[in-house]
Amino acid sequence: MKLSEVVFFSLLIFCGNTYAQFSPDKTVLSGGAANDYLFPIRPGSTSIITGTMGELRNTHFHAGLDIDTPGVGVPVLSAQDGYISRATCSTGGYGNVLFITHPDGNTTVYAHLEEFKGAIGDYVRRQRYTRKVSEIDLQFSPNQFPISRGEVIALSGNTGGSGGPHLHFEVRNNDNEAINPLVYGFSEVKDHMAPLAFKVALKTLDSKSRINDQFGRFEFSVVRKGDTYSLPYPILASGNIGVEVLAHDKMENTRFRYGINYIDMRVNDQIMFTQTIDKIDLSESRRILTLMDYKALELKGDRYNKLYIDDGNQLNYYVGVEKKSGVVIGDAETPVQISLKDFGGNISKINFTLKPSNPVDETLLLGMMNRPFETEYQENILKLSVKTCLSEKGEIDLWQKGKSTSINAAYKGKNQSVYLIDLRHYLPDSISTCQGSINYSFQDRIPSETDYSYYSDLLDIEFSKSSLYDTTFLAVSYDTLHRKESFKIGSRLVPLHQSIGITLKPRLNYTQSKDLGVYRKEGNSYSYLPADWRNNRIHFSTREFGEFVIQRDTITPSIAPVSVNSTSARLKIRDNLSGISYFEANINGEWLLMVYDYKTGYIKSEKLDKSKPLKGDFELKVVDNAGNEKIYKQKIL
Ligand SMILES: [Zn+2]
Repeated sequence: MKLSEVVFFSLLIFCGNTYAQFSPDKTVLSGGAANDYLFPIRPGSTSIITGTMGELRNTHFHAGLDIDTPGVGVPVLSAQDGYISRATCSTGGYGNVLFITHPDGNTTVYAHLEEFKGAIGDYVRRQRYTRKVSEIDLQFSPNQFPISRGEVIALSGNTGGSGGPHLHFEVRNNDNEAINPLVYGFSEVKDHMAPLAFKVALKTLDSKSRINDQFGRFEFSVVRKGDTYSLPYPILASGNIGVEVLAHDKMENTRFRYGINYIDMRVNDQIMFTQTIDKIDLSESRRILTLMDYKALELKGDRYNKLYIDDGNQLNYYVGVEKKSGVVIGDAETPVQISLKDFGGNISKINFTLKPSNPVDETLLLGMMNRPFETEYQENILKLSVKTCLSEKGEIDLWQKGKSTSINAAYKGKNQSVYLIDLRHYLPDSISTCQGSINYSFQDRIPSETDYSYYSDLLDIEFSKSSLYDTTFLAVSYDTLHRKESFKIGSRLVPLHQSIGITLKPRLNYTQSKDLGVYRKEGNSYSYLPADWRNNRIHFSTREFGEFVIQRDTITPSIAPVSVNSTSARLKIRDNLSGISYFEANINGEWLLMVYDYKTGYIKSEKLDKSKPLKGDFELKVVDNAGNEKIYKQKIL
């Protein structure tokens, strides 16, 4: 790390406690008046924020500020002079959204709107009628819809993928990166509370490393004293240890949790890691899957922030971090201090000590094993724990294509032995232990950062060079139950960055028709995947490993009227399996705009001319992804 960067970062972290010290980056604020952005919801009143920019979400960094609104219909004001450069209506995602481009080059984004106001509202509605579409994406030139600072542009809503009424407010710079709206120093947002820390996780980063004499990832709850947290006991460690933290920010008087924009870690009093989330490249937001511990996210829903940088991590939040790996344990006790800082400058610290230990063969392994053996994966390492047997000779045999190799335990305790197998060197078909044999369905080793094709009698997979974050070991298995074929492909604990193309080669013969489809199965829920059939082969793309089944959907969607009268037609639609793909309504044979909220199932009409009553023969057609069609008809008097 360069000295200038150390000084800069230290200033950011350790000065004062007000917004002022984060006086916004001058490059961001070029253009003079930009400093004066207006808060878009009830400016001047203290606001409740329900989400911050940079916050960790399951598949992306949250790109804006979520501003709470009491219900829908709160006036949304333009933050600055400019012009509407884009307006989009979509069922999912941002729902109804307006983009306003300002003289400083920034664009502000207002999402999940209930309706657009003024000229833009009329224009978009007319365009939807002209094109006979519910979803639309329009772009505009500077002279079409000029807007002044403080002008009401819309009413707030809950459209798209919104989980409750709020305004999602984003500021994007010239490079289409989201920047933190709080750089504009809005007095409406008050944060005097430091982040809360909950747990620290420690992970062995190679097969030689140990935590409390074991290999793996271990979580430890921290003890709080004010804004300082600690682990009440030292932890034995050797080798190369990755540190992760489970924490979030808080603001006063709300139950919501927020992102932490600045994290640093000092080891032996030296800065070893810094993470600053002040800009989000919107096209790279999915790379969050390398910043969080994906296994903890998938298995428990916990968003642990890694304080080490994996090989596949290409995020640029780590300016000045030279060493990408974890904490290397030497001969002396290693003090570790983590600082967590929110945008308001409030800081929490976590302190703990790693005590050097020499890995021993025989260690104290706590807890009884319930099963004779347990397999766990950590990156390239397969960790196999085997319950001690009387006849034990300590070795296990790894089998690969009819040949075997014996290995000894990496370490053992009173009632179990632990074996570590580096899958980069050995991909076993099966392993025999004193407790019996275990079969593994590994098919191939898939490299990252290169295109790769996997072929077999059962299925083919095309990986692009950006599909994987890291080398993976592909396991595939097949099952058929009640004439329903199921293909288990890879592990759901391995994240994918870009889609992979899968071609299934079913063993059953199908009469092809549109109602036959591929679904990703998760527990008891099925998500439909658009697929192509060719010669009894089925091709589709997915961004998730898991279980895929082939099945038919023969049931039509359901349509239930809620209130259909001269003011509006409001109905509830639903589909049992493949999901709704299309809907269309008309009144007396003329196309009628319907707006669908997939979260609640409600669909309602929006008239071209609001003053005219809805009268005559109303008809709504709903089609699911399997082509099943339902029509609802009613005469409105
Ligand atoms: Zn949001």
